[in-house]
Amino acid sequence: MKIYRFLDGGRVAIGVEDGERIVRYTGRDATALGQATSHAIPRLTAALLPPVVPTKIVAVGRNYAEHAKELGNEAPSEPIIFLKPPSALLPPNGTIIRPPQSQRVDFEGELAIVIGKAARNIAAADWRSVVLGFTCANDVTARDLQKKDVQFTRGKSFDTFCPLGPCIETDLDPSALSLCTRVNGEVKQNGNTRDMVFNCGAIIEFITSVMTLEPGDVILTGTPAGVGPLAAGDRVEVEIEGIGVLQNVVA
Ligand code: MG
Repeated sequence: MKIYRFLDGGRVAIGVEDGERIVRYTGRDATALGQATSHAIPRLTAALLPPVVPTKIVAVGRNYAEHAKELGNEAPSEPIIFLKPPSALLPPNGTIIRPPQSQRVDFEGELAIVIGKAARNIAAADWRSVVLGFTCANDVTARDLQKKDVQFTRGKSFDTFCPLGPCIETDLDPSALSLCTRVNGEVKQNGNTRDMVFNCGAIIEFITSVMTLEPGDVILTGTPAGVGPLAAGDRVEVEIEGIGVLQNVVA
């Protein structure tokens, strides 16, 4: 099932893909989906929103060995985690704003996990029981500021630095999905989730040993090799097998 969040007549709505349409559902959000209604809208012209509103976005750094290497780092021996603020969220087709403080803003295409249930101290083997589904993310990064600061916070947290969507796919095995990032149609990252250093179970066990994950929280699972800069006017797409394409433009 593919769950969307969108504007319908100016109001926030949720719905489920049915061919070329999105059928509107009752319910508060994707983590509390209700019943199908008789109302549907065309999918291709829908005003999509980030598919979920998280209380926090937890991101995993250097989770693909080839990407760690391209930035001069070793693959880590335990997950490296950091936070991105929900204020950084950007909907599909929204505009990534390059801030004046940075001369180098990079794309990072990533598989995102959407949490479905409050989760604390979850064993790796039980990870799927707390997960609603998966979506595409772009962990946009001011690379120069990330390198300059001790913390990742500033470089990862500007408004518009977390494009998310287009939908949450609830029925998906994330262990070997192709992940492709294109800029202006040219392939820049061509990875596969099988190359993650820490898989979804290991990541969820690690994070929930630290903090409680709430329904709707999002985990960005790291980016494969091939990251690079974005320029004004670029169109960046993150496509993950079985989910879809997250497209944004850059200003
Ligand atoms: Mg990243």
